[in-house]
Amino acid sequence: MESLPSSVPARHPSVLDPYVDRYAARTAGMTASEIRALFAVASRPEVVSLAGGMPNISGLPLDVVGGAIADLVATQGPVAMQYGSGQGVPELREQICEVMRLEGIRASSDDVVVTVGSQQAVDLVTRVFCDPGDVVVCEAPSYVGALGVFKSYQCEVVHAEMDADGLVPQALRNAIRATKAAGKTIKFLYTIPNFHNPAGVTLSVERRHEIVEICAEEGILILEDNPYGLLGFDRDPLPAMRSLSSDNIIYLGSFSKTFAPGFRVGWALAPHSVREKLVLAQESATLCPPQFSQMAISSYLAVHDWQGQIKQFREMYRERRDAMIGALSDMMPASVRWNVPDGGFYVWLTLPPGVNAKAMLPRAVTARVAYVPGTAFFADGFGSSAMRLSYCYPTPERIREGVRRLAGVVEAELEL
Ligand code: PMP
Repeated sequence: MESLPSSVPARHPSVLDPYVDRYAARTAGMTASEIRALFAVASRPEVVSLAGGMPNISGLPLDVVGGAIADLVATQGPVAMQYGSGQGVPELREQICEVMRLEGIRASSDDVVVTVGSQQAVDLVTRVFCDPGDVVVCEAPSYVGALGVFKSYQCEVVHAEMDADGLVPQALRNAIRATKAAGKTIKFLYTIPNFHNPAGVTLSVERRHEIVEICAEEGILILEDNPYGLLGFDRDPLPAMRSLSSDNIIYLGSFSKTFAPGFRVGWALAPHSVREKLVLAQESATLCPPQFSQMAISSYLAVHDWQGQIKQFREMYRERRDAMIGALSDMMPASVRWNVPDGGFYVWLTLPPGVNAKAMLPRAVTARVAYVPGTAFFADGFGSSAMRLSYCYPTPERIREGVRRLAGVVEAELEL
């Protein structure tokens, strides 16, 4: 073994971080996501960011929200500013059941646990179910924020393929078989059935039934993460998997995309016994979810036509989707492929073989456009020729300009 130069202390990492030897093993999986590193660059005004998935809340009626909050402070201020229940505010949990009914779910508010965004729900479920080395089956690709949670609990992620109709049942069967044959334990399937982040696809109704059946047969829990389900452009929401069976499924919802992410309110709907464990985990993590945010959302839902508001959001996102798809069709080289999402925020774009989206990113940023390279959405280094484009935040004009710049970068890459 090569000896270290004498000027470098034997434990040289401590030069950078004096605590490096003291962190828990689980921190090895905690790395800044590619998206986070991108945020600083992408938020410069001259860059068109097709990278972040920030909901566009410019259409929210701030006077209505402000009025609901002022009323809350005037009439229930001392309660709203106090600690609350670890499970969440009862009135809000009732209203959450109404929201879920739009996707066919009949549930008791008793089985709802309010969380700090659905992100915390992913964390709590993983905390409750997973030991180091346990396997979580995820779609390929999958939501970067969930992959980060699974890594931080030292889980192994096994990916199962998707196509235009979402997760492929046979790919799920193969993943289950291979994992079991390797003597490993699958704790749950993590799936985003609607307007997938990042793939943009939606799981067909037939497959929802099939996947629920496969998981029931195999005794595998489903973690159904559904922040975008009400943001479809062309039709009523499809039935949630949780509406097909109340066993074996934990359903996650969020107000981040249908109202506003800054309140940090999401929820988990879980089988009764799991709900108990999630509340205990929630109490140890935060004592209780933010009481003020919950009561503010509850007031907003009570006084405003929130379904009309969601319809407006859908129309705005559809216009942006159209701008992006139109621009891609007009400007991208013929060898580039993408899907046409019918809801949500994201387009998944595949470059021709040999073009690496991650390697290309610095050149894109120089051309003042940003995206997220596909590798961010895989636990295993796949996705190098793909990227996620978000159309949710920029105006249609900026989207066209961003795609124009990106097409120029891809063309230059093809000529190399
Ligand atoms: N799941 C998915 C699939 C997401 O896209 C997001 C946000 N981008 C979340 C969960 C977390 O959302 P929040 O914590 O704001 O509810």
